Amino acid sequence: TQAPVNVTVTGAAGQIGYALLFRIASGQLLGPDTPVKLRLLEIPQAVKAAEGTALELEDGAFPQLAGIDIFDDAKQAFAGANVALLVGARPRTKGMERADLLEANGGIFKPQGEAINAGAADDIRVLVVGNPANTNALIAQSHAPDVPAERFTAMTRLDHNRAVAQLAKKLDAPVGEVRKLTIWGNHSASQYPDIFHAEVAGRNAAEAVNDEKWLAEEFIPRVAKRGAEIIEARGASSAASAANAAIDHVHDWVLGTAEGDWTSMAIPSDGSYGVPEGLISSFPVVCKGGKYEIVQGLEISEFSRGRIDASVGELAEEREAVKKLGLI
Ligand code: NDP
Repeated sequence: TQAPVNVTVTGAAGQIGYALLFRIASGQLLGPDTPVKLRLLEIPQAVKAAEGTALELEDGAFPQLAGIDIFDDAKQAFAGANVALLVGARPRTKGMERADLLEANGGIFKPQGEAINAGAADDIRVLVVGNPANTNALIAQSHAPDVPAERFTAMTRLDHNRAVAQLAKKLDAPVGEVRKLTIWGNHSASQYPDIFHAEVAGRNAAEAVNDEKWLAEEFIPRVAKRGAEIIEARGASSAASAANAAIDHVHDWVLGTAEGDWTSMAIPSDGSYGVPEGLISSFPVVCKGGKYEIVQGLEISEFSRGRIDASVGELAEEREAVKKLGLI
């Protein structure tokens, strides 16, 4: 039998963690035949709650779950990690300036990057979920010089899934018929969901929609502000769909995207599509053999160009801000 894969999850006692851990334990992250060992990281005050979740995981009697260890020390939590899901982050609280937010998260993602550098397995793959996810990933990456830079990614898959669902609804098509949609840029309100290359049931999506007003005034803002819509309706944030997207991101990265489709991941830019090198920005990617590649050669319309540039500009500003703070 296969040796268990070590999956480290930070913020394990939080809302997303609660939804995520059960999905990992049931084999949905890496496939039903791969045993996993969970390594949970929490801040000391939340260790007890993580222990409670571990009791419930035990009660799931998951055949794929080979063990659970809980830590309040990053070096230990990332030792031997093959997959790291960085969920715990410092949320923006009322009156908090952006610099304060970035600084607080620097205090979390710098030591985690160092710990990954020091002790993670050679095949480590990192997904950052905790916000501001793209820039938190950049901070962690910059403190892990021995890990190939492309192993640090951030999540825009929830935005991608939201856009797929909204497009399917608009065209009254099953979600499974939507392909080649792209989220560009930052996981923030400036993100750009692009349907110009998307296909729905084999037809070009933008042509099938044929409604630029809907695109600009309904679809794009709806996808970007979906988180707020859910908080308003549910009285709590979109934790289960965020966990679902984290599962999708790692699953596809490791096991591959479907033939004839692609997905969206925030990854270190190689300069493609005019995105400055090194920024962790969302791109259309195809995954195969455990690696991702940016889909090349897409024609970018003027409508798309301005929106991509605005979101990428925001990422560049965030990078400048963390540079100034000495975090990268
Ligand atoms: P959640 O589990 O709900 O969210 C965790 C992070 O995910 C937040 O940064 C949140 O960003 C982000 N996120 C990304 N996408 C979404 C989405 N669609 N919906 C909601 N959140 C999203 O937070 P909790 O407060 O419940 O739990 C956080 C846990 O992390 C706590 O248990 C805390 O103790 C722990 N923590 C652990 C650390 C560590 O292990 N070293 C460090 C810091 C915290 P946003 O704020 O923008 O909603």
